[in-house]
Amino acid sequence: MTTRRVVSVLGSTGSIGVSTLDVIARHPADFSVYALAANRSVELMLAQCLQFQPQYAVMMDESSASKLQEKLPAESAVQVLHGEEALARVASDDEVDCVMAAIVGAAGLPSTLAAAHAGKTLLLANKESLVMGGHLLMQAVRDSGARLLPIDSEHNAIFQCLPVDPQARPGRDGVSKVLLTASGGPFRTWTREQMHKATPDQACAHPNWSMGRKISVDSASLMNKGLEFIEACWIFDLSPEQVEVVVHPQSIIHSMVQYLDGSVLAQLGNPDMRTPIAYGLGWPQRLASGVAPLDLVATARLDFAAPDESLFPCLRLAREAVATGGTAMAICNAANEIAVEAFLAGRVRFTDIPVLIERVLETTPVVEPTSLAVVESADEEARAQAVALLTDMNGKPEEASLA
Ligand code: NAD
Ligand code: MG
Repeated sequence: MTTRRVVSVLGSTGSIGVSTLDVIARHPADFSVYALAANRSVELMLAQCLQFQPQYAVMMDESSASKLQEKLPAESAVQVLHGEEALARVASDDEVDCVMAAIVGAAGLPSTLAAAHAGKTLLLANKESLVMGGHLLMQAVRDSGARLLPIDSEHNAIFQCLPVDPQARPGRDGVSKVLLTASGGPFRTWTREQMHKATPDQACAHPNWSMGRKISVDSASLMNKGLEFIEACWIFDLSPEQVEVVVHPQSIIHSMVQYLDGSVLAQLGNPDMRTPIAYGLGWPQRLASGVAPLDLVATARLDFAAPDESLFPCLRLAREAVATGGTAMAICNAANEIAVEAFLAGRVRFTDIPVLIERVLETTPVVEPTSLAVVESADEEARAQAVALLTDMNGKPEEASLA
């Protein structure tokens, strides 16, 4: 590339963070790492600091930060920081060109927003921040002139299949809809009874993608597709009617754009997040990513089906949240985060996840998302409501089912 890009990687120790650093390591002349940020994984952060020599390493709490500081060699120039403010700072410092937003969950919103306000090239993996604060985030991107490059593989595919820079041309003349592909997750062929007994490890065993545990459970419940549905509406300024979910079990087509003249453009590739990550890092140039070339003959077939919303109610819940608007999407996201945490901790069944989300959506008031404070308070209220309902559910474990 012509100029060296200075990158902050937020969530560097996670699945997307590690893949991002893998791509960066393949192009040492093109990128320098300004900051790495993570929650509490001190050992991996230490190894990443030694390899990439960032100016800053940000841990979320003071104790992880001091552990990291102790382990770094005395002569190391890496400055160790901690906390939300430091995170927002390394997302928005003047020296930074490009921010990989790869923290999981609502915790990523303030730093993602900080990068957007500062006009950075924002590589957005953290879909929850857009689901929660889509209005605020897209407004910040427009006001500051930030460039949002979607890293979620489906949205990255749509971005690649749209005719021109979608931010530069709202309205999308000629596009009739986008076809958002879904693998269907590990429970695609399971019955409700089987899902009722599903364990966290079964939910996290995705057939095609290797990902963090939260998004893996979301993929199993199809809430991931629900969140991506909302994400597509925000990023590409589409109405919900313009987004159709299509189950495609092979995960070779990452999504498609259908045009008024009948053309459908698709982006294909092996299911490896280094492809969309390399696209975002190099844009508008293409970079080698380490992903094996697609072998279509070995793939042999591509199948498609409609999603079954009675077996996977999360998709419907996300669609209803878009229709409701306001803070309903933040409420849906928060309830889902609590439900997934409870499922991973063995406190509720897999089939309780949509039950809990629906109840929280029914009982938490929706308001206009006018500021970050309003969105954060809706998020908190929904979490508190979800925790209260969970306590009830645990008292009398029910044969939860939305049907
Ligand atoms: P992960 O759980 O593997 O990693 C999460 C990262 O965020 C870790 O580095 C962790 O330390 C950090 N983190 C967690 N809480 C934090 C906090 N409070 N403050 C600071 N850092 C914190 O998750 P992942 O699979 O890499 O997913 C990251 C994001 O990317 C999610 O929003 C997910 O939906 C999205 N995404 C992931 C994939 C994938 O293939 N993994 C694909 C598309 C989108
Ligand atoms: Mg995706």
